[in-house]
Amino acid sequence: MKIETSGIILSVRPLGDSGAVVRALSRDRGVVCGFSYGATGRKTKSRPMPGMFGRISWRARLDTEMGSLSFETESNPAAASNGRTATMVCSALELSDAFLADGEINPAAYDILEKFLNNLSLVTNHLSLYIEWEISFLSCLGFAMDLSKCAMCGTTENLSFISPKTGRAACDKCGGQFSDKLFPFPPSLESMMFFLRRASAEMDIKSLPASRMILN
Ligand SMILES: [Zn+2]
Repeated sequence: MKIETSGIILSVRPLGDSGAVVRALSRDRGVVCGFSYGATGRKTKSRPMPGMFGRISWRARLDTEMGSLSFETESNPAAASNGRTATMVCSALELSDAFLADGEINPAAYDILEKFLNNLSLVTNHLSLYIEWEISFLSCLGFAMDLSKCAMCGTTENLSFISPKTGRAACDKCGGQFSDKLFPFPPSLESMMFFLRRASAEMDIKSLPASRMILN
């Protein structure tokens, strides 16, 4: 078994003296996971780090084995982030790592992560870029939200609320009387946490990553 592709590193978990279990998200093969010899070694010049883009080579005798993975870095757009933006990067990578299973092919999950990381240095409103990523990510997992119009009357104006039940928007007029049961529009980190928790419960994922908890 051999896989040659390109992707984004989601996680690097040190194992043994200088190795690590590396998980990387590719567009065509989903998450590729393997043991990377020397990944955390002192002498290693280019250590694989979460958020890096590059070439992945994976090899194993059987496709049920973990296999060995080597990674050749091409770019690292996340390297320029710092402070709160760096926490957003960690959160997007760690949520992808937690929710996407090995070998499960999900090109949309790759596309939105690539777009998020590449756009970090191009936008000034990092929070709205991040929240947009979370909405798209939930959609990739089958938990789509519809915030484009009021779910009740269809208007695209004066959207003021989001229903926790349906993940759909409501206008001022339709949602006003239920305002105590609805989240404010647009979505915030706090309201997105509710939808993430619900998705994690349905997918049997025990806890959300610490980086996501820190963002709230
Ligand atoms: Zn309405």
